[in-house]
Amino acid sequence: MIPVTKPYLPNREKLDQYINGIYERGWLTNNGPLVQELTRRLEEYLGVENLLLVGNGTLALQIAYRALGVSGGSITEKPSEAITTPFTYIATASSLKWEGVEPIFVDIDAQTWCLNPANIEVAITSATKAIVPVHVFGNTCEVEAIDRIAEQHDLKVIYDGAHAFGVTYKGESLLKHGDATTLSFHATKLFHSIEGGAIIFKHKADLERARRMINFGLASPEEIVDVGINAKMSEFQAAMGLCVLDEIDENLKARAEVWYNYEAAFKSTAQLQFRHSYISCNYSYFPLLLESEADIKLAMRNLENKQIQSRRYFYPCLNDVMEHQGEKNAVPIARDISNRIMCLPIYSGLAIDQVEEIIQTIKAGCDK
Ligand SMILES: *Cc1c(COP(=O)(O)O)cnc(C)c1O
Repeated sequence: MIPVTKPYLPNREKLDQYINGIYERGWLTNNGPLVQELTRRLEEYLGVENLLLVGNGTLALQIAYRALGVSGGSITEKPSEAITTPFTYIATASSLKWEGVEPIFVDIDAQTWCLNPANIEVAITSATKAIVPVHVFGNTCEVEAIDRIAEQHDLKVIYDGAHAFGVTYKGESLLKHGDATTLSFHATKLFHSIEGGAIIFKHKADLERARRMINFGLASPEEIVDVGINAKMSEFQAAMGLCVLDEIDENLKARAEVWYNYEAAFKSTAQLQFRHSYISCNYSYFPLLLESEADIKLAMRNLENKQIQSRRYFYPCLNDVMEHQGEKNAVPIARDISNRIMCLPIYSGLAIDQVEEIIQTIKAGCDK
């Protein structure tokens, strides 16, 4: 059986050494030395500042909304709104709901599959507090246009960068854009710490507020200055993260080989995501857009018959499944793409002859 994704397992002896250290210190969580080391190493690797490690990528989003004042206030207050994409993983939108913010879905661009800035601008109302774009499949949103709209309308921008680990934009980290960018370090992501996540803030003051928030709002053991929650990363998660980071180059190389094989096979027969030349690719996903939903279903059935897993990412379109207050915007492009897209298996350890089998299975189905 070929899974659609497989968690990266780093060298076991190295992980054991880190765990021995945890046993010697007896320091298991609460901003321990491994969490501090991983914070420094990630800032250096990604080329960013003000990075805060948290328990998972969904909490990263929630803490970012809180720290930036986007989360809903009292029940008598008009609910706040955030403009976001319906073409993403459910966590982008459900985290908003969880924080008392109404997700307002607007349509994506038909080529990049990221939010179309022109649609953002027309959806802004007096209740809008934030824009929550997603760098979907590691492709970059139009960050300059979005940052400009946010500035003009005094809105916060929180990028969901769960797919964009290590991606650069015009030679610099993509993750520096917006008031905050969040990352997910879930086991199935390119870089992982079993469960985990991070927030990269533009301003140090927001980082400091968020740092208190993830530890019950404490400024010191006897000083409670904010309403907080527990969203801390543990030393065991950080140990895994450090080991995975050590091997990230090998991981990327193996994924790239798979990715380029798929690209060569499908670039003239299927529609691939359009990527600007000034962004880098992290080979996280290989999404494939076919002619119709029937084609997707057929391809998936053919793959399944050969014990190959694929996934309809992202389906269904969130505009169709999330409860809404008020009127919905039409999102025909997102719905259309959701209906006829799938992601192919990609992970380090997927053999090239298996990739070839996947390609041939899909192509054989398309010819019929
Ligand atoms: C994985 C993912 C999340 C959630 O991250 P977790 O670490 O699983 O909580 C959020 N948004 C997107 C786009 C994701 O792919």
